[in-house]
Amino acid sequence: MHVPAADRHARMTYRRAGRSGLDLPVVSLGLWQNFGDPQAFETQRAVVLEAFDAGVTHLDLANNYGPPPGAAEEVLGRILARDLTHHRDELVITTKAGYRAWEGPYGEFGSRASVLASLDRSLRRIGVDHVDVMYSHRFDPRTPLEETLGALRTAVDSGKALYAGISSYSARRTREAVAVAGDLGLRLVVHQPSYSMLNRWVEQPQQDAGGASLLDVVEEAGLGVVAFSPLAQGMLTGKYLDGVPETSRAARGSSLPRSYLTPEALDHVRALDAVARERGQTLAQLALTWVLRDHRVTSVLIGASSTRQLRDNLGAVAAAPLSDDELARIEAHAVD
Ligand code: NDP
Repeated sequence: MHVPAADRHARMTYRRAGRSGLDLPVVSLGLWQNFGDPQAFETQRAVVLEAFDAGVTHLDLANNYGPPPGAAEEVLGRILARDLTHHRDELVITTKAGYRAWEGPYGEFGSRASVLASLDRSLRRIGVDHVDVMYSHRFDPRTPLEETLGALRTAVDSGKALYAGISSYSARRTREAVAVAGDLGLRLVVHQPSYSMLNRWVEQPQQDAGGASLLDVVEEAGLGVVAFSPLAQGMLTGKYLDGVPETSRAARGSSLPRSYLTPEALDHVRALDAVARERGQTLAQLALTWVLRDHRVTSVLIGASSTRQLRDNLGAVAAAPLSDDELARIEAHAVD
């Protein structure tokens, strides 16, 4: 059993997710890539426990995280059972259904069969009787929103999820989802989009949403924003400025192909790194501070393959706000 740091909550800043009752730490931990079978359990356990000790109460999962799919939920289940059984109610554990998690027609997307079976599987793997947020991981063009959101409503009504959320839905689909959810008596509390200095789609006006951006839509609807890949999968840490480290995500290549590391992109990263140094921050910390500058963002959802990375990223929690001059310098290099 882990004996957690007594001052863990004092070390973190919490923000309210939109117009809900849910507080989230400004830095949350995602278990997408570093919690599968290939990684050492002791490293995974050390990252989760160090995060917990720093007040990171929000751990984000999905049915397909691993590899193989489901492995990350099992790993977290082992850590909870071994170290954190008495602290379940201090944690916000989130999971999702939408990407391929098992074979056959019900193993992905947003049908009722898929979403509800997926949630049951997730609960078994994590070893809990409920998750805190159940997400629709992606919009399903072949299933009526009424069905996908109806399944989330069933999840909430049954007590298997406390809240419901959506991930990567466009501004237009988000607006539709909020309206349909309202008709069903379901309140969506959070949207999980990608957002970083190198990926700013959430800010951009969308023609099919009457010129509103996703951030406009979520604000108007009262949803919180949990921003995923705020470090652009590691590109915003400076680790790729002198080549591709052997054990890095870009070396593995699947979700961060080397082709993203163009000389032009790296020039921008270098310029951003210079701004960070002048502020006395690391680039990772600057990248997180920048995403959190927007009050509509409730939390940045980081990944970490070591406690060293986690510690670096947590340095953003107490960072000084960005000055107008710093924001202007960043603006020139924070480009998609
Ligand atoms: P990040 O942008 O934070 O990238 C994390 C990766 O960057 C780490 O795994 C590590 O990779 C590297 N890294 C992190 N910190 C440092 C550091 N301080 N110094 C050097 N390298 C560092 O986020 P992710 O892309 O991992 O996404 C975070 C979470 O968001 C996921 O775990 C998941 O929960 C969620 N997510 C949700 C999606 C959705 O569709 N809803 C999609 C994607 C993510 P390495 O050491 O291996 O190079």
